Amino acid sequence: MLLISCPNCGSRDETEFHYGGQAHVPYPEVPSELNDREWSEYLFYRDNTKGTFAERWLHSTGCRQWFNMLRDTVTYDIQAIYPMGSARPDSAGAPTPDSGTASLAPDSTTTGTAAPDVTGTSISPATAPEGATK
Ligand SMILES: [Zn+2]
Repeated sequence: MLLISCPNCGSRDETEFHYGGQAHVPYPEVPSELNDREWSEYLFYRDNTKGTFAERWLHSTGCRQWFNMLRDTVTYDIQAIYPMGSARPDSAGAPTPDSGTASLAPDSTTTGTAAPDVTGTSISPATAPEGATK
């Protein structure tokens, strides 16, 4: 049983929390330009790390707030708890091109240089994945 330290409530039993999957998976900058394979990889493909892993947690029966956690998947040792939207506190979280995620822009949360094409001339409706605009 894990004893998880909620940033808002303090240490609570693991049963008060829900696991929310891998943290730091950026939403595609232009989802309508992804093909079906890229979109499905964004939705369903996640890292399966043995060792330190950044993951999201929800304090569902407490403050109902999300937060991130660095946890060792082998020893269950909780190494850090930090707010949503902030960078991973260790250096291992630096995105790499072959990290296994589906993102075309691995650092899309911090870059602003690649402006999306808003003219619409390069977007073919036939290639837009269904539901991608929601
Ligand atoms: Zn809480």
